[in-house]
Amino acid sequence: MSSITIVNNELPLLPTPAEPAAVLRAGLTAAAGPMTLACSFSIEDVVLIDFLCTHGLREEFGTEIFALDTGRLHEETYEVAEAIRNRYDLPITWYFPDLVAVERLLRGKGAFSFRSSLEERHACCDARKVAPLFRALHGKAGWITGQRREQAVTRAGLSPIERDGGHGGIIKINPLCDWTEQQVWDYANARELPRSRLYAHGYQSIGCAPCTRPVRPGETARSGRWWWESPEHKECGLHRPVAAAAE
Ligand code: SF4
Repeated sequence: MSSITIVNNELPLLPTPAEPAAVLRAGLTAAAGPMTLACSFSIEDVVLIDFLCTHGLREEFGTEIFALDTGRLHEETYEVAEAIRNRYDLPITWYFPDLVAVERLLRGKGAFSFRSSLEERHACCDARKVAPLFRALHGKAGWITGQRREQAVTRAGLSPIERDGGHGGIIKINPLCDWTEQQVWDYANARELPRSRLYAHGYQSIGCAPCTRPVRPGETARSGRWWWESPEHKECGLHRPVAAAAE
């Protein structure tokens, strides 16, 4: 494994490609404060939980695992959550949207307003995901995500460790950013990790039920999300532009 350098408050200098466990350790060390892992129960997130637990990083750094319950998740997602909780004896910190915001959305615009325009879709994501994420990150020194570069054009410029300009410059660790889909599945299969039953039905990126569908061969993983929108819009606002990056 290549050596990793941390200079004062600067971000760690990492080799390319960087090993996920090394990225995790370097990022957690650099953050030097409470950290949390954003878990959508994708296979990438399950791989990261396994890394944290098997390398002793969760205990060493007290890393929390949080999830956003948008109110529109698949039943299969809760099944994975339970499997994770049982396998690792792991508490999951769930965050829900503001009750009044969701009531206002449904009463005023109906149950599928997100299909009518990009603005309406963002309004739904803002209420159900973005606002709860701000609560989840409150008081945190940083967070960990399962994003990978090859998932979508919107993620091509990812760095293993970044400053999250959209959330006050806290550290954001993307340990799997260099990994291919094949590497993720090779690891998950070797470790027999829990995974959503939806993957067996052609889903590759799993979000809310009404905004996710299976992808066809040759399509990118994120093409099954908000399939009625163009590729450069396929983000929900959780991952905002970063202020600085190190690699
Ligand atoms: S993914 Fe769809 S249902 Fe979920 S918060 Fe965004 S617009 Fe709403």
